[in-house]
Amino acid sequence: MRFISSGRHHAVFEFGDLRVVSLRDGYIDMPPSRLRDEEGCALAELPAVVPLTGDNLRLAVNAFFVTDGTRSVLVDTGGSNAWHDPTMGLIYDALAEAGVDRAHITDVAITHRHIDHVGGLIAPDGSEAFARLERVWIGAGDISVFTGRLAPIRDRVVVVSEQVAINDWLTAVPTPGHTPGHTVYEVSSGLGRLLAWGDTVHVPALQFDRPNVAWEYDGDQSQARTARAALLEQLTRPHHFVAGAHLDSPGIGRITPSGAGYALEYLAPPIG
Ligand SMILES: [Zn+2]
Repeated sequence: MRFISSGRHHAVFEFGDLRVVSLRDGYIDMPPSRLRDEEGCALAELPAVVPLTGDNLRLAVNAFFVTDGTRSVLVDTGGSNAWHDPTMGLIYDALAEAGVDRAHITDVAITHRHIDHVGGLIAPDGSEAFARLERVWIGAGDISVFTGRLAPIRDRVVVVSEQVAINDWLTAVPTPGHTPGHTVYEVSSGLGRLLAWGDTVHVPALQFDRPNVAWEYDGDQSQARTARAALLEQLTRPHHFVAGAHLDSPGIGRITPSGAGYALEYLAPPIG
């Protein structure tokens, strides 16, 4: 996988015959007390390597557009203006910057039901952000999100209840824990595999080194820990890469074993 170019809110990668575009939607600030130890308690001490913005952790919010030139899928959508703070919603600018016309996006794959991943289906003006949307994949445990603001999309939801091929280079893999329907999307090219995950890691500066650290909003912290451990181990294989919703933008890298945990090496310089 090769980094090609980047702009203010996007970065482009070549992955065999596929092109992967990382899209920076913005960020979320959260208190460090969201990080949880194995008893479910806030960490007694935050290691100095974890950067803070003011008193908060700043989580990047990314989405990923993958195309073979004919067929394209957008993985996650950012939060649009549905979050209580106006810190997200850059995905529409990011797509335009990358030369992707969002009116042509027909397929969206959602990692899980939280606003920072699914909220961007509806643009800030209340219209559907993707005018020709035909299919939205989401895990079976998370389909309840398609009510209220997202109700107009419900008729295009495709429920993921087991591992399933979306096309010949994209597979949905259920990874419950953070939410019951949390799903990762595995992109296969002749050059290897790229796993696009949602909330498997929230704080990259800490959770690769200490993968047992969980997140307060993991619906089932123990199950989320197990899912994270399995994905991290899988990603240490040769020719495997990760694209993470909350990894530092543009959020694509490779993972190696390191000490009792793992290390992440980004494939591109930071954006945003
Ligand atoms: Zn998230």
